[in-house]
Amino acid sequence: MCGIVGIFGLENASRAAFTALQFLQHRGQQGCGIAAYSPEGGIQVRKGAGLVREVFSEAELAALRGSSCIGHVRYPTTEVGGTENIQPFRLNCHSGVFALAHNGNIVNAGILKARLESLGHLFHSTSDSELFAHLVGMGRGDMAGRILSAAKLLDGAFSTVILSDGALYACRDKYGFRPLSLGRLGDAYVVASETCALEALNAVFVRDVEPGELIRIDGEGLKSFRISARRGRCMCAMEFIYFARPDSDIDGSGVHAFRKETGRLLYEEHPAPADLVICIPESSFSAAIGFSEAGHIPLETGLVKNAYVARTFIEPTQALRDIGVRKKLSPVKSLLKGKRVAVIDDSIVRGTTSRQIVRMLREAGATQVHMRIASPPYAWPCFYGIDTGSPEQLIAAGHSLAQIRAYIGADSLEYLSVDALSRACGHPGLCTACFTGEYPTELYDAQSG
Ligand code: AMP
Ligand code: SF4
Repeated sequence: MCGIVGIFGLENASRAAFTALQFLQHRGQQGCGIAAYSPEGGIQVRKGAGLVREVFSEAELAALRGSSCIGHVRYPTTEVGGTENIQPFRLNCHSGVFALAHNGNIVNAGILKARLESLGHLFHSTSDSELFAHLVGMGRGDMAGRILSAAKLLDGAFSTVILSDGALYACRDKYGFRPLSLGRLGDAYVVASETCALEALNAVFVRDVEPGELIRIDGEGLKSFRISARRGRCMCAMEFIYFARPDSDIDGSGVHAFRKETGRLLYEEHPAPADLVICIPESSFSAAIGFSEAGHIPLETGLVKNAYVARTFIEPTQALRDIGVRKKLSPVKSLLKGKRVAVIDDSIVRGTTSRQIVRMLREAGATQVHMRIASPPYAWPCFYGIDTGSPEQLIAAGHSLAQIRAYIGADSLEYLSVDALSRACGHPGLCTACFTGEYPTELYDAQSG
């Protein structure tokens, strides 16, 4: 998971990218970077570990001159990753210098890298972006042709922006796993992982970059090419369920409306005997509204979030993750005492959060805790860019519903069905592989590994 932005034809483009990246910060907090192009300075890159506002000072932004740029926020994964994996990457090839930033995971990367290494290519990072960059560098013809032939070799998930000396390119894999939207800001163009970043710049949403589409934007305007003849989409359901901001629209569907509908359907499938409904701030708020409205049960602020503590999901040890949840959330005791509570969460991955929360609510005086999850059991690993640790850590992979309920200590536990999830989306193009094990691509190296 990562967030990307690309801007073309805007004065001080890097400042706009700085703003856009802050609106994509939820997609990655480990590191970030911006590459900007100016005719005098060529492509300049600044990047570092940390949040966008920590990495970019006034001086850093001033050094990134020019009217076109690309930017990236990197998701903290469990892999031991140094700063060499922070994007954008700047690459030299015989037709010039270009920079690239990417969101997603290439499933045939291992095979392609081995092939390139046997041809003498050296890789400096473990990132798929570097592979993409090598393939682009190897191609023939103009930049659009090179990107097209590189993209045709890749299988899996990639939403990518590329900056070269006169153009901005944006492409999306043929399945459309990761979002990428196009907007206009006066005469300038903006592409971003989520529409909330377009809104932040006051850009007008034009359309999504289509699955399997490559867009080239230069001084003459926008041109579209096809990477693949495949039609149809396979948007990551977890984007809707958890990752994207509720004020974003993905592939024409509002994320908030989707989540609210999952909450409503969750109540239809699994009502709960509760006096109040609470969410786990902020990600399950929209689903909790849907559940509360459907059941006519008041929605309350049962947990308060401390916004100044870092996220707990990727803490390296279970002990640290356990403390993390308690530091991040506090129960409102006066409200919870003596109450039967329905807790809505968007997902259970390892079970750490739910277990902590149930304990916390009981200690705060709740008489019953009914856990309702606005997605199906997350039982299969994702190969398309969502890092949830190793498959053994997925609690739904090795345990029955009763076992998970016992582990988290709730009075009852129920999940949304896959069918309801698809209905909430309103169109059939959702990837649900982590719930069903039905992967839309071949898995190549991942399967044999
Ligand atoms: P866990 O404690 O491992 O069960 O994590 C579940 C919680 O983490 C849920 O409340 C989600 O809001 C959140 N979550 C789900 N998937 C991810 C992910 N890939 N990265 C970070 N947080 C996640
Ligand atoms: Fe998203 Fe799950 Fe598909 Fe991965 S497997 S792309 S997390 S829906």
